[in-house]
This record gives sequence, structure tokens and C-alpha cells, in this order.
Amino acid sequence: MSDYDVDLFVIGGGSGGVRAARMAAQYGARVMLAEEYRVGGTCVIRGCVPKKLLVYASRFRAEFEDAAGYGWGVAHVKFDWPTLIANKDKEIARLERAYTTTLEKAGVAIVKTRAVLGDAHTVQFADGKRIRAAYVLIATGGAPTYGDPIPGIEHAISSNEAFHLRQLPRQVLIQGGGYIALEFAGIFSGLGSHVTLVYRGENILRGFDDDVRQHVRMDMEKRGVRVLTGCKVAAIKRTEPHFVAQLTGGTQVAAECVMFATGRAPNIAKIGLKEAGVKIADNGGIAVDEYSRSSAANIYAIGDVTNRVNLTPVAIREGAAFADTVFGGKPTAVDHANVPTAVFCDPEVGAVGLTEAEARARLPQTDIYRAMFRPLKATLSGRDTTVLVKLVVDGRTNRMVGCHIVGEAAAEMIQLAAIAVKMKATKADFDATMALHPTTAEELVTLRTKSASYAREAAE
Ligand SMILES: Cc1cc2nc3c(=O)[nH]c(=O)nc-3n(C[C@H](O)[C@H](O)[C@H](O)COP(=O)(O)OP(=O)(O)OC[C@H]3O[C@@H](n4cnc5c(N)ncnc54)[C@H](O)[C@@H]3O)c2cc1C
Repeated sequence: MSDYDVDLFVIGGGSGGVRAARMAAQYGARVMLAEEYRVGGTCVIRGCVPKKLLVYASRFRAEFEDAAGYGWGVAHVKFDWPTLIANKDKEIARLERAYTTTLEKAGVAIVKTRAVLGDAHTVQFADGKRIRAAYVLIATGGAPTYGDPIPGIEHAISSNEAFHLRQLPRQVLIQGGGYIALEFAGIFSGLGSHVTLVYRGENILRGFDDDVRQHVRMDMEKRGVRVLTGCKVAAIKRTEPHFVAQLTGGTQVAAECVMFATGRAPNIAKIGLKEAGVKIADNGGIAVDEYSRSSAANIYAIGDVTNRVNLTPVAIREGAAFADTVFGGKPTAVDHANVPTAVFCDPEVGAVGLTEAEARARLPQTDIYRAMFRPLKATLSGRDTTVLVKLVVDGRTNRMVGCHIVGEAAAEMIQLAAIAVKMKATKADFDATMALHPTTAEELVTLRTKSASYAREAAE
């Protein structure tokens, strides 16, 4: 590989790129990584981590309210957005330094620039400098999209800007029905904003189990979020001190902040893919095989830019698998089945495996176990909320193929349930496990009565 300046050039210093660069360097490769914005990428700088910090902040409101039933008097509660944002920014800066140090310690050369491909082995920087690389890893992630152009779209912000608002907006309109839209609805609402969520589809959280979608919507509405479905923002007008969003169907919503969380697209534009012979897949991301190898033999792509499963742990795993495959002599494919996922909205969602609809379409026999109950904590707090626990079981093999939870700590519970689902645990294994009382999670092992059982239509 000595004809090249480096053995590996990584474009993008996010979750996937950082892991791949560090591991490749530890395998002995000469690695250079380019990052055009901040090391750490979406997850660390303007995704999972700052989002979860804001989620924590937003949940104190309910805790203060619930405390009264437990005898606490919480007087003079006040919230200061600039303090939260400043503290969050400090933590993100610390993490960025930690990621940078880890890479440097592993021997990775970091270049703070935009980098694009000139050809399959040439990477060009913004200042024109060129580097020749034996292998190139594209880990450029994704970016927010705003949908079809509408009048006044320039007034809308995305999640990127939401992390840096100077003040907490009193009214927020959020367009979108996916996890980012719902999480920000929970954040703003918990912190005290009036939130209207607008989604063009029939119900929020497309792709999640239908019971989950129904349950989250009902509970979010109880917590004061106004949910409007079957319509979308047609225009946004500036009318100081507000914006007015005109919705299809005629409704107008005034808000200090209009946020679009209408999806994300892989960062593939103008990075020299054509010049390097890298093809795009039908899903809009870079086309790769199971080892994340693109149509150009020495170029690989991982993470959100491939638009497979757009989550941080997946990008990290793909980065590690790439390093093992190319520099560790251990060809490793990532298994994208049964990836657990969470929505940190209020109420929280955790899910792994098949939804009821997916199971019924794929399996000859599907058994459903479902419980909806008032959590113990809500008894004294008086909060009007319920938890949903739903198990989807393959009726022929008794295997647990899906688990869906809505309620406090759902994400923590689903991470553990995911191990069992991945290990192909059966419903009988769950039943044989002793309950831990009193918890919400004990419902996972005490659900004895089928709520429903479906045989797939013979014609299928
Ligand atoms: C608001 C929000 C919340 C999220 N919450 C979660 C969550 O709770 N859990 C979860 O698992 N996932 C979450 N995600 C998704 C997660 O952030 C991504 O899946 C993950 O960051 C993908 O990693 P990546 O390495 O593919 O790309 P990224 O982390 O996006 O990194 C790509 C990097 O490449 C850089 N770059 C792009 N083009 C170039 C170029 N030409 N030259 C140099 N540098 C370039 C970018 O600046 C960026 O730093 C969230 C995302 C968002 C937006």
C-alpha cells in the first residue's frame, strides 16, 4: 500500500467514521479522517446525546407535578433555557475533545475540512490538496430534508437549529410524525411550550406497531400536545412576533417557532461518487454489499449514508465490521435484524422485532399478548397515564418475535428484551423467568393469556 499517502481515508468523523478509523489504525493502518464540521458527528453534536440531555431536562416538569401526591411541596419552580443550552454545549464540547483525543491517540490524522472524491483513490480537500488512499471509507451521514418546497419554508428550522435556539419558544409547531418530531414535541412541551404536531399521514410513528402508535398519540394528547393528522403545512408567513402556518384544509396555527422534522437524506451530493464509480441504491443511499463495500472495489460506505438502519449503534457496528474485514483479516457482515429502537418522547417507546402487522403478514400463526395498565407510580401522583406492553409470538415455534413497550423506562427495558429476542427466546422462556416485583418489566414474564391469535390466510 506504500504507493499511497495513506492506507485508509475516512470521509466523515461521525459515529461510524470515528469507530472505523480508530480500529483500522489499531490494526496498523495509516489512517486519515476528514471532518467538515465537528468531530463526533450527528449523534454527539446534534443528535442522540444533546437530544437526550434535553429530554432529561423536559421530564423534570412531570416529576415536580407528580411529587405533590408523594408529599413533596415543590415551590417556585422555574426553568431557564439559556442555562440548559449552555450546559449542554459544554458537555458536547467535552465529548468532541474526547473523540478527537481518542482518534489522535490511536494515530489517526484528523483534517478539519470538507473532503470529496476525485477518483477511486484520490481524495480532495476544500483547499485543493489531494491525498492518495488505498482504501476510502465514506461515512458522511445524513442531513434533514424539508419535503416539497412551500412558500416561507426559509422560516422553518430543523433539529439542527432546535439545539441552538436563543430562547424557549412559547408556541412551537412541529411538522413530522417520526421519532425526531415526537421527541422534540415532548422536549418543548415538557419545558413549557405549547406544541402543535402536524403530520400528513393517518397516524404518527409510521412503521411502529399500531397499538404503540395509538397509545403514544393518546397519551401525548393527555399531556397537552395538540396532534393534527391528515394535513400538512402549506405555507409559513412571518407576522411579528409570530409565524403563521397555513395548513392544508384551512387551519392556521400561530407559533414562535416552526420546526420541520420531515425526514433525513443521505449526504451523497457533490462528494465525487460518479468520478469514483460509486453507485447509489434504490433507497437513495450508497449501494453496498453485506461487508459495506460499494460498487468501487476499494471504496466502502457505512452508517446513515447507506440508509440501511439509521441509528448510532448500527453505524458503529458497521464501522467496526469494516475495519475487521479490510484491516483485521476477519470478514464481518453486520446483522441488521432485530435492532432495538426507542423513541424518547413522552410517553417513551421501546421496540424490537416484528410489529403485529409484520408478523401476521409473514408468519402462518401469530399470537399476541398485550397488557395496558396504570403504573404504580401514577396511583399516588394521580397522573392520568397507562403503560402498554405487547408481545408478538410466532404461534408455531413459540418464539418471541417482537416486543413493544410504551411507558417510563421503555427504552431501558427493550434493550434487555432485545437480547432475548436475538437469542431466539420462546414465550415459554419468558414465562419460566421469575418476575421482579413491583416493576413494569415484570409484565414481560407474567403475561399468560393470549389477547389474540391469527392464522395467515391460506391464499397467501
Ligand atoms: C435529532 C436526532 C436524534 C437522534 N437520536 C438518535 C438516538 O436517540 N439513537 C440513535 O441510535 N440514533 C439517533 N440519531 C441518529 C444518529 O445520530 C445517526 O444514525 C448516526 O449519527 C449516524 O452516524 P454516521 O457515522 O453514519 O453519520 P454522522 O454521525 O452523521 O456523521 C457524518 C459526519 O460526516 C461529516 N461530513 C459529511 N460530509 C462530509 C465531507 N464531504 N467531508 C468531511 N466531512 C463530512 C458530517 O459533518 C458529520 O460529522 C439521531 C439523529 C438526529 C438527527
